[in-house]
Amino acid sequence: MDQEKYIDLHFHSNSSDGTLAPKELVNLAYENNVGMLAIADHDSISGLDEFKCNIQKGMLGVKGIEFSSYLTINNDYQRLHMLGYCFDENNNAFKSLVNEMQEKRIIAHKKFLQELKEKIKKFPYEEIKNLNITKYCWFDREIVNYLIKITYPEEIIEELKRYCKIKRFNYGNAYNLDVQKVIDAIHSAGGYAIFAHPMAYSFSNDYDEVNKVISKLISMGIDGIEIYQSDCSQKDTNWLKKIVEVNNLLYSVGSDFHKIESSDGRQIGLGIDHSLCVTETSLSNEIKRTRKYF
Ligand SMILES: [Zn+2]
Ligand SMILES: [Zn+2]
Repeated sequence: MDQEKYIDLHFHSNSSDGTLAPKELVNLAYENNVGMLAIADHDSISGLDEFKCNIQKGMLGVKGIEFSSYLTINNDYQRLHMLGYCFDENNNAFKSLVNEMQEKRIIAHKKFLQELKEKIKKFPYEEIKNLNITKYCWFDREIVNYLIKITYPEEIIEELKRYCKIKRFNYGNAYNLDVQKVIDAIHSAGGYAIFAHPMAYSFSNDYDEVNKVISKLISMGIDGIEIYQSDCSQKDTNWLKKIVEVNNLLYSVGSDFHKIESSDGRQIGLGIDHSLCVTETSLSNEIKRTRKYF
């Protein structure tokens, strides 16, 4: 592969909460000079076949997924995302985890909608129930976005936001996966478990807190951390790079691109204002060395 091409191992298709089809994403990546790429849809690999079929000459495709998971740390519950790469999707433990997640999500989202219908006056249940509930991992946020899009009365949106904030703990607990289970399933399928966007969580404004989470994840067996990321400043990346070096972990890059008209302008391979444009990572080297690409 041409060393000057960029790497992006984390973006979303319309198989989860992205807006573009896998084929369109590959074309966009090609235009942006991306040479190694992975779609990492939330809890789904249903876009993988289309992605594989459309990888172009000179590109290296990588299998990816982003699991919605949780970690219990000091009796506190943290939602976090775990990326899986280069897995055997036919592995039983892996397959059953993906299925479990889809089932959990449908049950939890239906329950959540029912709850909103009961608690929030004038909640547009009939309209919302038509959103595809299997696609979204941040379902509460999707509901809010949808209501903004259809210019729903602001006071109802505000009430909903307040309610979602209070309920997030229980709601999240109902459908996220135990991160240890996620790491183990990725490993049993021969894949790499990489901690996604460490600077994009509610605890991320405090390096000590991020460090605690990373330490716990290391003890659970993660293989690496996404250190080049649209939500990471240069300072964050440098800080994370030291952690991966000290702990002998892999490091990766991902734009977490979802749609063209994103508010911060992030783009596949390039990130925000060309802040990514990364041509080599230890994970990409490992994937090339072990030929776990297609
Ligand atoms: Zn994520
Ligand atoms: Zn993502």
